[in-house]
Amino acid sequence: MADEIDLAQDREEIARVDAIRRATKPLEPGMPGECDLCGEWSGRLVRGACAPCRDKWRLP
Ligand SMILES: [Zn+2]
Repeated sequence: MADEIDLAQDREEIARVDAIRRATKPLEPGMPGECDLCGEWSGRLVRGACAPCRDKWRLP
């Protein structure tokens, strides 16, 4: 049961973070810069997130 609750909370958090980022930072895909999520510099941010963070948050 605990695992199911954790997963549900993770999905809510992902949806919330994604919605906030889309609402506040309409970045072009593939821009170099600092990742919104981890603060690391990346040569290719997609919607403000670096590749490791896109994997972590299951972003496209
Ligand atoms: Zn990142």
